[in-house]
Amino acid sequence: MTKKQYSFDYEHFATAKELPQQDQELVEMAIEAAKKAYAPYSNFNVGASILLDNGTIVTGNNQENAAYPSGLCAERVALFYANANYPENAVKTIAVVAMKNNELVSTEVAPCGSCRQAILETETRFKTPIKMIMGGKAGFNIINNATELLPLSFTGDSL
Ligand SMILES: [Zn+2]
Repeated sequence: MTKKQYSFDYEHFATAKELPQQDQELVEMAIEAAKKAYAPYSNFNVGASILLDNGTIVTGNNQENAAYPSGLCAERVALFYANANYPENAVKTIAVVAMKNNELVSTEVAPCGSCRQAILETETRFKTPIKMIMGGKAGFNIINNATELLPLSFTGDSL
């Protein structure tokens, strides 16, 4: 038996104002997107904004459904829109925030497992690291590539 270890570094910013200007803009756009989410069942409004390598920013929010599994997370709504409309452009950064009662939730939001898988696919597809900004009232966690969000991941290389 060989014992192995996996670890990664991430950055934490206590407030949005400490973020670089471009990241602040992405967070603002994610917040605006969250306000437009369709989340009548959970009242957990999530917004995502995505910066592409051509400077384009697209946004998305969670879209729930009475048949719960038919809905989709904000990250994938934004990501699939980006990949559908800009298939030649790498995703550089994704900002995601969650809101309840029109306020950021207390802790930094984190993408679900399915979104992590979809984000990793995009990172692999374009061979470009995707920076993730994950916000809440407690601040903003930042990682500099999606691989770190999904250790020992399943990718096309496994097929
Ligand atoms: Zn998700």
